[in-house]
Amino acid sequence: MSKSNIIAIASPPASEFDVDAVRHQRFKVYTAKQLDQIPQLQQLSAEQRFEMQVVASVLPFRVNQYVIDELIDWHQVPADPIFQLTFPQRGMLKPEHYDRVAEAMRSELPAAELKALISEIRAELNPHPAGQLEHNIPMLDGEVVEGLQHKYRETVLFFPSSGQVCHSYCTFCFRWAQFVGDKDLKIAARESNQLQDYLRAHPEVTDVLVTGGDPLVMKTRNLRAYLEPLLSEEFDHIRTIRIGSKALTFWPQRVVTDDDAEDLLALFREIQAAGKHLALMAHYNHWQELEPAIAREAIRRIRETGAQIRAQGPLLANINDDAEVWARLWQTQVELGIIPYYMFVERDTGARHYFEVPLVKAWQIYRDAMQQVSGIARTARGPSMSSHPGKVEIQGVTEINGEKVIALRMIQGRNPDWVQRPFFAKYNEDATWLNHLEPAFGEERFFFDD
Ligand SMILES: *Cc1c(COP(=O)(O)O)cnc(C)c1O
Repeated sequence: MSKSNIIAIASPPASEFDVDAVRHQRFKVYTAKQLDQIPQLQQLSAEQRFEMQVVASVLPFRVNQYVIDELIDWHQVPADPIFQLTFPQRGMLKPEHYDRVAEAMRSELPAAELKALISEIRAELNPHPAGQLEHNIPMLDGEVVEGLQHKYRETVLFFPSSGQVCHSYCTFCFRWAQFVGDKDLKIAARESNQLQDYLRAHPEVTDVLVTGGDPLVMKTRNLRAYLEPLLSEEFDHIRTIRIGSKALTFWPQRVVTDDDAEDLLALFREIQAAGKHLALMAHYNHWQELEPAIAREAIRRIRETGAQIRAQGPLLANINDDAEVWARLWQTQVELGIIPYYMFVERDTGARHYFEVPLVKAWQIYRDAMQQVSGIARTARGPSMSSHPGKVEIQGVTEINGEKVIALRMIQGRNPDWVQRPFFAKYNEDATWLNHLEPAFGEERFFFDD
């Protein structure tokens, strides 16, 4: 091997991305009150804009100019997947809910009454799926530790208080209740001390998953205050730090042009220098999110620190219920150095009726997409339901002793002994969640039922 070859291997090609050209771009953020100020929406009818106002008064809405200008193809609106992913659509409220709010807004109901109506409707949308407020709440010395969830033995979820918003909101978000300003609905930690105390008392925990909202909304110095203490020797049992984020889609500027972008990448390097695995759990739903040059530059920069990017996201009607979309998403991810990790089933909350896909159909889409890519891109587990007993994967439809059944597998369980147990449900073409399924073979209950 010649010397020049060795040099070529040692130093990856420099980025061709022109950071200075975009460094001073400013991007507005729009919330429900500013919907009417979005220039591109002027192409829609007054009726459509009113529908958006109605839905945005119940479900959270927030979108930034980057998403509007770079991710949405406005010639394809309203069918454009990223438009559906960020902008309220009439069908996202059930007709009876929609009609009540629309009528209230048209007749200019007093603000207090409108507010009460909206709260009532939100409460009917199952704001805390899988019993999130009552279960998985960690205790320490007989007291509730706020801002943590501990459901699966090895992994603690941490919700830092300053990371409980996002750069834009997803219309299908299962954590939507956190963003509508209802204090009771929020889960957030005030301090990192509580996290440390809890982890000290739990040597069985190997993974900390920082989540939200989006922790990458935080300034680096705040994120650092939470993560740096975990690098000390007493937390040697923490082997992996995961950061759940959709910043690579909604705000790739976070690691490219933000003032503290370099500092964030330095923090990523420090975590790994301390011997830990760092995984950015990136939320992706569509290959369109991976197209802008700055999105690819952000991925390149994170990969350069040695951190791994793993991709996860739900399968959704009106956005990505199409095997071609998933095959292209996974293939593009692999080419950009991202590892496909989970395909989720849309959870039973919020605008669920608008996005849900029957479990059997979800599995067909998954399988069809898998068949279009090589084994390298077949690493996403799923379709997986994050249900109360655990994460349940639909493995397929088959026939056993003449009975048509759905084969399932518990890939993560609140009881560690349940992990990787296969089980079977009666075939049901319409079921969209675990509670719609019944045990096969005439059995009374599933193994995890009390
Ligand atoms: C998915 C999930 C995890 C992580 O599970 P892995 O299989 O390790 O990715 C941890 N806690 C909760 C509550 C989860 O839903």
